Amino acid sequence: MKSTRRQFMIMSAAGAATLALNSKVQAQAMVAETDPQAAALGYKADASKVDKAKYARYAAPQACSNCALYQGAAGSAAGGCALFAGKQVAAKGWCSAYAKKA
Ligand code: SF4
Repeated sequence: MKSTRRQFMIMSAAGAATLALNSKVQAQAMVAETDPQAAALGYKADASKVDKAKYARYAAPQACSNCALYQGAAGSAAGGCALFAGKQVAAKGWCSAYAKKA
């Protein structure tokens, strides 16, 4: 009985470590422009490629790196975005939900 309990504890710890690792890997995945949510928001990993006819509110130098929803560190190439949980957006990217950082 004692050994079963010990095995359970070891297996639980291993499972928790695997879950933590998986979520870390997912956190590093980049948002694809073809992702349905990204496409709906007109997300482009390179803001200069934004469809300006469709998104007239876009104006340089708007980019994820100066958006209020961007969670990446200053100077980082990519970082999290409040709209794309568990994924990263390009610092030079842009989407129609852009909100200027205060
Ligand atoms: S909400 Fe802001 S940080 Fe997120 S993808 Fe759009 S422009 Fe980039």
